[in-house]
Amino acid sequence: MGALPTFLKRLLFATWRPSRKACSLRQRNGGNTFAGQSVYSGKQSAEKLRRQPARKLRARPKIIGAFMVDVVDAATRSRMMSGIRSRHTKPERIIRSGLHRLGFRFALHSRKLSGTPDLVLPRYRAAIFVHGCFWHRHNCEFFKMPSTRTGFWKAKFARNRSNDIAARKELANEGWRVLVVWECALRDRSESEVTAILLRAASWIKGHRKSLELSGPRRKAV
Ligand SMILES: [Zn+2]
Repeated sequence: MGALPTFLKRLLFATWRPSRKACSLRQRNGGNTFAGQSVYSGKQSAEKLRRQPARKLRARPKIIGAFMVDVVDAATRSRMMSGIRSRHTKPERIIRSGLHRLGFRFALHSRKLSGTPDLVLPRYRAAIFVHGCFWHRHNCEFFKMPSTRTGFWKAKFARNRSNDIAARKELANEGWRVLVVWECALRDRSESEVTAILLRAASWIKGHRKSLELSGPRRKAV
């Protein structure tokens, strides 16, 4: 390269600029970002993780007040509602990681079984559903009937509920034991309350009871 005249070098390398990312990394590293130097030390990745904003909670269905008009049009609302996931929800992840820590191993969302249980433990002949209180119309503080398109929602909830009941019946007929963990058992609960739920689930799995439902402590009459 030394043989190249300076003007040619300038021409060849005129367009090269370190990227903004490389620049900021170099600053953080005191200038060492060049070949052979690892720019990500463990400490830096940890710092990077810390700087990331806390994971936002999953969008929850907004219950629209009695005299309020929806802030988005019907098509947008429909798209938003359909984007709310039914699998890998936060309560489900709590149950999964908790039971995993307690030593249980399971299959997820087994379509072979009716109702597609969220967790299946064939060894214990146990199927576990983690139900969102809104979608499965739980009789608890987290369920409120939407005030718009009530007919549509009523039909939807009725369908969801009858599907739930049918799935549970079918599973029982096939010799499966069924545990339902409601969202309210885990949502807005203290760490010790969540642990208590996990331990109850664990002892149910190991036991012989056919079915069990775990829900939050506060219940109201609807
Ligand atoms: Zn509930």
